[in-house]
Amino acid sequence: MRWMAVLVVVDGMGDRPLAELDGATPLERAETPNMDSMAEEGVTGIVDVVSPGVPPGSDTAHLALFGFDPYGDYTGRGAFEALGAGLDVGKGDVAFRGNFATVDDGVVVDRRAGRVFERAWELADELDGTSPPGFPDVEVSVKHSTQHRCAVVLRGPRLSRAVTDVDPHEEGREIREARAADGTDEAERTAAAVNSLVSTWREILVDSPVNDERADRGRPPVNTLLLRGAGVLPELPTVDERFGVGGKFVSPVALYGGLALAAGMDPVPLDEEVREMDDLSQVEAIGGAALGAVDAGFLFVHFKGADNASHDGLVGRKVEVIEAVDSVVGELREESRAHLAVTADHSSPCSVGGHSGDPVPIVIDGPGTRPDDVDRFGERACAGGGLHRLRGRDVLYELMDLEGRVSLHGG
Ligand code: ZN
Ligand code: ZN
Repeated sequence: MRWMAVLVVVDGMGDRPLAELDGATPLERAETPNMDSMAEEGVTGIVDVVSPGVPPGSDTAHLALFGFDPYGDYTGRGAFEALGAGLDVGKGDVAFRGNFATVDDGVVVDRRAGRVFERAWELADELDGTSPPGFPDVEVSVKHSTQHRCAVVLRGPRLSRAVTDVDPHEEGREIREARAADGTDEAERTAAAVNSLVSTWREILVDSPVNDERADRGRPPVNTLLLRGAGVLPELPTVDERFGVGGKFVSPVALYGGLALAAGMDPVPLDEEVREMDDLSQVEAIGGAALGAVDAGFLFVHFKGADNASHDGLVGRKVEVIEAVDSVVGELREESRAHLAVTADHSSPCSVGGHSGDPVPIVIDGPGTRPDDVDRFGERACAGGGLHRLRGRDVLYELMDLEGRVSLHGG
């Protein structure tokens, strides 16, 4: 047996009935023989991943699915992104997400600088290691992750995550100054360091040879790195400390890798090009890596494509991604007699184009599960299942208890 327990998360899989699918959801429309067979043999339910009616971010949702408190244990997104991008994040460090962007006369005209990048690594390297003028004790690390995205870590004394975003989050708006989000000196100091850094970066980027080449190719200049999502790493017990087994994860996306690392799981190696693959080929590559992972007591497998399709309102694409994931689920089931759970981190209704607070379906199968009468995997079918309505933070415990890995509470 290669794994004992596997948690498959299909990002944004939950949805609402769509007129164009004759009142079905994309999951209900998708042909999912393997997940249906799990539903028939296993136990199903629906999950309020963060809290009923609250649309979860992917970060808080995964914290919850890993068994943590999505409110109390959440300390901002940036640190997970940075960890997942391969930066070292230590105690007291404050980390951010960043976008290479195009600013004209103080106004953000393209938050992704055209999205097309040939030499983004070099741009990140040019910014890496700059100390903000006036803050010689603050060290700065910058690392490119995918496309226009970077992670940034500030290290030094008296830093705080209580700073607002430089990113205005909308094009046509002015780039913002970071401000202290609470009244502490640390927050004031961090905001000032960030502002100093952003103006220094602008000077470096304007002179970058990468921008000369971009101009020759007709691409918009990259003249800022928009920071957002300040965070510090929460101190979380590892999977091993909680359940006495090692944990591994498969995800090419920095955020999910960072969350899994923070929860004490080790990465299953993936080829570098998997990061930039289209959603359907990525499902296959992730499946291949998951099937090749050995000696993981617990394995977390993350698929991003269904959420991307939802944000873009691509119903057909979402159905295809779910069907591709279903084939991988079939192989995982065949290869192992593990306890297998399939769920989503949140609903992303195509009609909304973003996340919603609708609960998501879950199915768990494997030895010892107590089957219910549900025989297909879908939002409405699972609402009648034996797990009823769970909190996100209960999911991992439900799965691990089937392995006898949850300690007795009380005497
Ligand atoms: Zn998500
Ligand atoms: Zn999303």
